[in-house]
Amino acid sequence: MHEKQLRALATKSFVVMFTVIGFSFCITKYNDSKIYVSAEHLNEQLSAALTNEPVDVKQYTNSSTGEIVNEIGDNYIKVSKNSMNDIQIKIKDNYMERKLIVMIDNLDEKIYDKQAVIFSREEINVDKISLNYKFNEETLKYCAVFEFTLDNVYVQTIYEDTEDFYIELKNPHEVYDKVIVVDAGHGGNDIGTASNNKRFVEKDINLNVVLELKKLLDEDSTYKVYYTRLNDKKVYLKPRLNLANEVDADLFLSVHCNGSEYISAKGTEGLYGSPKDTSGSFTSKQFAEICVEEVSAALKTRVRGVIKKEDIYIIGNSKVPVSLVELGFMSNNEDMEILSNKDNRTVAAMALYRAINRAFEEIDEAKP
Ligand SMILES: [Zn+2]
Repeated sequence: MHEKQLRALATKSFVVMFTVIGFSFCITKYNDSKIYVSAEHLNEQLSAALTNEPVDVKQYTNSSTGEIVNEIGDNYIKVSKNSMNDIQIKIKDNYMERKLIVMIDNLDEKIYDKQAVIFSREEINVDKISLNYKFNEETLKYCAVFEFTLDNVYVQTIYEDTEDFYIELKNPHEVYDKVIVVDAGHGGNDIGTASNNKRFVEKDINLNVVLELKKLLDEDSTYKVYYTRLNDKKVYLKPRLNLANEVDADLFLSVHCNGSEYISAKGTEGLYGSPKDTSGSFTSKQFAEICVEEVSAALKTRVRGVIKKEDIYIIGNSKVPVSLVELGFMSNNEDMEILSNKDNRTVAAMALYRAINRAFEEIDEAKP
């Protein structure tokens, strides 16, 4: 063997050796970072605690999956079980108001007071709790209803041990890779635009399309989706925008219909802006283009293209990629023919769902 070949061989074996070492290191790291541990592992740790230095092992169980964890996040609300066994916990996330409703059901008496709750952080304190009781006439049991005013939007996971419930609070992106805010434009006494015959108002069409879109997004567990409204109520622009900015949405989609004094104006249009935070390389413009492409192809409407419109409040102040889609013109009879048909609104929702999927493909591609 030549010296050159020998050297090459030596280099190769070094590479193999380091790869093996590196790989095993990664596996060890991976095991360390896992939160969920088996009961066996816990027992090992417990017996270690008995024989050696004390190890602080708390056994929490995920209330919905039954999985055991030995550690939960830094941010949580602890609610005492008050030594009762057959009680049930339910939570409702009222994220638009940053309110979390925690219900402890099946109580024989009004046993709770606000002191039964402990927060892991000072930001959420006892002033931000309200407590009410509901009495169930059939079961003759009480339900304690706590309402917490939180400082942000959180994803909650409930854990329990023998003494307490723990509601862990995490930022959406700590739990989900893909976070979306979907906004049905207008609502309540803000009707938006209307058809020429006044039989249809924009707020209803927007909501209908968003509710159809929700059905599709609900099937997809990879997405965490927040909706600015899911019924006919007035929502101001600021809370819509704040939601998207606070959850640091990957995509902010606002669904609207257009109107014009020129009845010949028709087609699908996308409005966009330049996000104030330019950390991502996927732009509002790209998102708006994808939305217009998908919607106009599906509804067979004219492609009007995309327009930069930073004077629109939710667009101009968005820190995340935002697309405001104008599905069609309610002032145009041809477009209105399409929009007034319920099946077409489902088709529009499917098109927006495809647009979201495509946008995430492009976001992934744009990642370094
Ligand atoms: Zn509108």
